[in-house]
Amino acid sequence: MKEVAQKQNLLDLDREGLECFFADTLGEKRYRAHQVMKWIHHRHVTDFVEMTDLGKLLRAKLEEHAEVRVPLVQLDKPSEDGTHKWLLGMDGKNAIETVYIPDKGRGTLCVSSQVGCALNCTFCSTATQGFNRNLSAAEIIGQVWVAARHLGNVPHKQRKLTNVVMMGMGEPLMNFDNVVRAMSVMRDDLGYGLANKRVTVSTAGVVPMIDRLAVESDVSLAVSLHAPNDELRSQLVPLNKKYPIEELMDACVRYALRKKGTSVTFEYTLMKGVNDQPQQARELVRLLRAFDNAVQMKDAAKVNLIPFNPFPGTRFERPDEVAIRAFQKQLNDAGMIAPVRRTRGDDIDAACGQLKGQVADRTRRQAEFNKTLESRGGRGTGDNEEGTVHAAA
Ligand code: SAH
Repeated sequence: MKEVAQKQNLLDLDREGLECFFADTLGEKRYRAHQVMKWIHHRHVTDFVEMTDLGKLLRAKLEEHAEVRVPLVQLDKPSEDGTHKWLLGMDGKNAIETVYIPDKGRGTLCVSSQVGCALNCTFCSTATQGFNRNLSAAEIIGQVWVAARHLGNVPHKQRKLTNVVMMGMGEPLMNFDNVVRAMSVMRDDLGYGLANKRVTVSTAGVVPMIDRLAVESDVSLAVSLHAPNDELRSQLVPLNKKYPIEELMDACVRYALRKKGTSVTFEYTLMKGVNDQPQQARELVRLLRAFDNAVQMKDAAKVNLIPFNPFPGTRFERPDEVAIRAFQKQLNDAGMIAPVRRTRGDDIDAACGQLKGQVADRTRRQAEFNKTLESRGGRGTGDNEEGTVHAAA
């Protein structure tokens, strides 16, 4: 048996990683990993002593070399409408938020991937917090663990946690490996058993990572489009200067073609007088029709219209109801599916643009992150503009 300097947090490992840990580090049979996964993710047990179908010796070995370290619940806030928000402490300095949104027949958990975010989308926030660091796989799956424990052990058919959207704090595709590993546990029967299409990655458009995702994972893709042309999109989503719409749409086509029969969701946050005009709806229809044609599938592109959620200090506004409906009607008349996503959990500040974590030491980290981005050929947006960290409803 190898020496392990530090205890391995088992929450950091997916099935394969855990099997390797059992075989290589503990010198045990790989299937033991399955028993432990069930204890952790199905029964929410973190203390090896309670894992009673493991022999005493194995439990002692686990005690010595491993731990199950879950996020610390700092705040637990239920809403009138069933929405639930947790503030989770990650390391004593940083905290992130996770939101559970129940709806007819399903329950969606909005999960964070980073402490803060470095992309500085102007309408979205993030920058009052800046970027601190990526969350580990344990910290990502830990959010699901906390929610699942809260929701209780319900039989599969009535499971209250049916969907996960990576739409909380951060850009999931800038924390690729940890997000992919955590999503593997979400979809594993020994983990949370979610169907592939019920786990969604939402991205501001990190093109090379969309291609990697197509190869290395099997989940739904949502793209934060927000504008139908480069001029406007670059103002709203600075990353667009690095990966403009044409490249982004091509990557989405490649994704959809690789995952035969899968649609891609395009998120469009409606902002008054900015991107809610009839001309923009026409441009959007053209763009998405071209996508459907390239994928050769009707309704390959789905649109989610999200009325902007204002936050203190923002210069953007939510369009009035008439404008929202008119925009939606233009898309519907062109034969597109375009539901308007309504805000939930208003009373606990749980809607898009309203979540706030706690981010420590962000300036230095932001600078480091930008350097990494540049060296990878990505874009570091640098300065901290105003905004708040959000999650999508
Ligand atoms: N970085 C990823 C995931 C987080 S954002 C991404 O960009 O997709 C998830 C969604 O939240 C974005 O698509 C955006 O539409 C939405 N959002 C952010 N701030 C918002 C706000 N103030 N009002 C409405 N939606 C917002």
